[in-house]
Amino acid sequence: MASSIRTRFAPSPTGFLHIGGARTALFSWAFARRHGGRFILRIEDTDVARSTPEAVQAILDGMRWLELEWDEGPFYQMQRMDRYKAVIREMLAAGTAYHCYMAPEELEALREAQRARGEKPRYDGRWRPEPGKVLPDQPAGGQPVVRFRNPADGVVGWDDEVKGRIEFANAELDDLIIARADGTPTYNFCVVVDDWDMGITHVVRGDDHVNNTPRQINILRALGAEVPRYAHLSMILGDDGQKLSKRHGAVSVMQYAEDGYLPEAVINYLARLGWSHGDDEIFSRDQLVAWFDLDHITPSAAQFNTEKLNWLNAHYIKQAEPARLAGEVANRLARRGVDPETGPPLEAVVTLYRERVQNLNQLADESEGYLRPLHPAPELIAQHLTETAKSALASLKARLATVAWEKPALNQAIKDTMAEQGLKMPQVAIPLRVALLGTPQTPSIDAVLEVLGRERVLERLARYV
Ligand code: GLU
Repeated sequence: MASSIRTRFAPSPTGFLHIGGARTALFSWAFARRHGGRFILRIEDTDVARSTPEAVQAILDGMRWLELEWDEGPFYQMQRMDRYKAVIREMLAAGTAYHCYMAPEELEALREAQRARGEKPRYDGRWRPEPGKVLPDQPAGGQPVVRFRNPADGVVGWDDEVKGRIEFANAELDDLIIARADGTPTYNFCVVVDDWDMGITHVVRGDDHVNNTPRQINILRALGAEVPRYAHLSMILGDDGQKLSKRHGAVSVMQYAEDGYLPEAVINYLARLGWSHGDDEIFSRDQLVAWFDLDHITPSAAQFNTEKLNWLNAHYIKQAEPARLAGEVANRLARRGVDPETGPPLEAVVTLYRERVQNLNQLADESEGYLRPLHPAPELIAQHLTETAKSALASLKARLATVAWEKPALNQAIKDTMAEQGLKMPQVAIPLRVALLGTPQTPSIDAVLEVLGRERVLERLARYV
């Protein structure tokens, strides 16, 4: 189902891939996939003071972790300078751009005067050529900037795929500088040339770019380029309704990886952040691709909801293959200095816990107790490992030394101990949990015994009885 749809994600590499950027990437990607189109990755690195190779790497890592695979690129704007300069020369020759020799101080003085008169500061068009107009004398040695000759009147508008019709009066738009005095092209211009050269049909991006769009459309038209469709996504608010920022904790996608979220949970969550398919809350990547469209993106701001993300993550952990979870847990334990090979098979451990945790770090916490005995807090010992409990554990330990190591026999050993000591189930099972895993709350005790294995169980009981 190949189509001509082409979308792009065009991050500026000035920091990590944050949640808002990831959602933009996801929507661009999903739209291309839905229509059998192409998804292009473009790195907008012309702000050399703020762009770093580490940020590029962080963006690529984040995209790969989310499995937002791109079909073309990454293209780097810094490697396309010759192309931008060539287009500027063509525009100068065609008269859609012109040299402006106004010195920065002159421009500042103009703005000052405009502000003093209560007007909006703007370029007054003094170097804009018009039929019959006499231009000022070129200052000796002055290096000109290049300005785009914006249409003088009328409106420029588009039917935004998310926000509906948006229009700007051309009279409100300055003749934009497209090349600085040193010849370097400016931001809006590079975006235009790239979207044109890359044949982008749908620009999906944050609505902080709405004000750039009329300028970009005018330049595209001046170039005789096809104007893409635009979908401007509303911003994401934090749990507290404020604009999402570092204050809200994890905003970097890789921080979510670190914090134990599964990529499919984050994808599912991000998809619902401003887009919906009926009442569906849980859906796979394939379903998203089958359903995704731009019509059901909400124009209002989306609010982050950590509880919902946690709920989704718990759902996906429950469903994940034990081998995969075991791998994730092994990595986490290794980073804590715990050798994942020293315990019972991790697959068996994570199977016991995958329905009881919200993230992989919790799963690692629970699993750690199977690999090395954790020492219960003194209060827990005082509360649960009483003389009565210890005598029961001693009797149980003797039984466990010889019993067949499978659930029915293990249960029988516990029952025999209860009968012998005149105790109820919790009076045996809870001290047993504390002695084995350092906590009174665990999955069912027969399953815990089975997974820990005879040797480990006897060893751990021997610390108390
Ligand atoms: N580089 C811009 C940004 O990171 C995106 C530009 C665009 O999508 O047109 O905000």
